[in-house]
Amino acid sequence: MDFNLQEDSPEMTEFRKEVRAWMEENMKGSEHLRWSASWSTRENEEEYSFRRGLGEKLGKKGWLFPMFPEEYGGAGLSVNHQFVLETELSRYGLNLTHVFYTLARIVAPVLIHWGTEEQKLEFLPPIARGEIVVWQVLTEPQSGSDVANCQTKAIRDGDDYIVNGQKVMVGHHLPPDALWALVCTDPDGKRHENLSWLHIPANLPGITIQHMHLMMGIKNAVFFDNVRVPAKYLIGGENNGWKVANTHLELEHGGDGRVGTDPVVDRVVEYCRNHEVGGKPLIDDPHVRDIIGDMILEINTVNRMNRRIFWHRFVKEPHAYGGAQFRYYQRMVRLRNGERLQKIMGADALIPDHGVHEVLDFEYVIRSGPGQLHGGGTLDTDRLIFARRAGIGRQTKEKAPDTV
Ligand SMILES: Cc1cc2nc3c(=O)[nH]c(=O)nc-3n(C[C@H](O)[C@H](O)[C@H](O)COP(=O)(O)OP(=O)(O)OC[C@H]3O[C@@H](n4cnc5c(N)ncnc54)[C@H](O)[C@@H]3O)c2cc1C
Repeated sequence: MDFNLQEDSPEMTEFRKEVRAWMEENMKGSEHLRWSASWSTRENEEEYSFRRGLGEKLGKKGWLFPMFPEEYGGAGLSVNHQFVLETELSRYGLNLTHVFYTLARIVAPVLIHWGTEEQKLEFLPPIARGEIVVWQVLTEPQSGSDVANCQTKAIRDGDDYIVNGQKVMVGHHLPPDALWALVCTDPDGKRHENLSWLHIPANLPGITIQHMHLMMGIKNAVFFDNVRVPAKYLIGGENNGWKVANTHLELEHGGDGRVGTDPVVDRVVEYCRNHEVGGKPLIDDPHVRDIIGDMILEINTVNRMNRRIFWHRFVKEPHAYGGAQFRYYQRMVRLRNGERLQKIMGADALIPDHGVHEVLDFEYVIRSGPGQLHGGGTLDTDRLIFARRAGIGRQTKEKAPDTV
């Protein structure tokens, strides 16, 4: 029996060489920014411009969305190319399609699935080439988990929709170019049949954005006051927004799949090798080693789940409950890792370290642990989706919605 993992084909070996050389060239002198594709709530102009620049360079080659057709800003490549690109970028802690602060990785596939040809040609190239920043704006003061209870109204008036309402807890500390919004186009209509999905340029008159300072960083409230949005920016048809939202939420709720990893465990090992208690390195303490062992086991499990979903998605065999299972487990692992850091380092773990990227900062790992239980749905929505899709919530098993 041969237990060897399949190697790259000769074509993929060549492609890997090309990508590796390109990355080496483009990371030269910026190696200290290697984790900069991960979410950060810190102001850091150098990091931000590096990240935007790298995103644009990757985008020009069509490598941000390698499987998209070239006319939509992709490179028309295969899933194998995408996998090579993802693995090579992850050597630098970078995530493809997440190289700067944008939710393009969710928005662009939704547009491919639901947009008209005209919309794809207008919106996709700047998104897929990393030229613009997009936020997803769904949550409202009265509708978080219950997304369908959307009260932001978009009422048709000639060639426009007039949008009024408020979204909360969206975006980040840097300004957006476009807002992808769930809106209510039929206030008297039936639940789930009264919603629509709008692409809203963020600079339209009547839009106000206000920072919200949350425990894990800045989010925003967005106010729409008689904002005129061209009706041609409606995605997926009027009152069909719930279906569009389902595609979007499937990707957001873990169904997109990734290849990267959580770098924190490597830093913990390094810290424990270099810090002594009672004249001995922390790593020599068997109790500490046990804790780190558990971290490695769980992070590896998260990675395996994530890669499996990645594969299911791109071979177009959606895993019904894979996303919810992964998301729930990942959130709990992050929370447990915050507790573990405190067990290993005690109060030292609570001192912010601005000398490292935020994803590697123990204090941020601890502080963001509880906050991330509540972003993009909550632990309860993960459990609910898992139960329905695994066939333990209702009589019939629910399927995963189609994604791209
Ligand atoms: C860090 C972060 C980033 C975010 N980013 C975005 C973003 O970019 N765009 C965006 O639109 N939104 C964003 N959100 C908002 C997020 O999606 C909502 O906070 C989330 O959906 C929960 O909604 P809520 O806060 O209104 O809580 P609620 O829905 O009011 O829930 C309160 C509590 O009740 C539980 N609960 C609710 N309904 C049920 C039920 N049916 N069964 C069992 N338990 C239930 C919840 O699990 C939770 O514990 C973000 C939130 C955070 C924290």
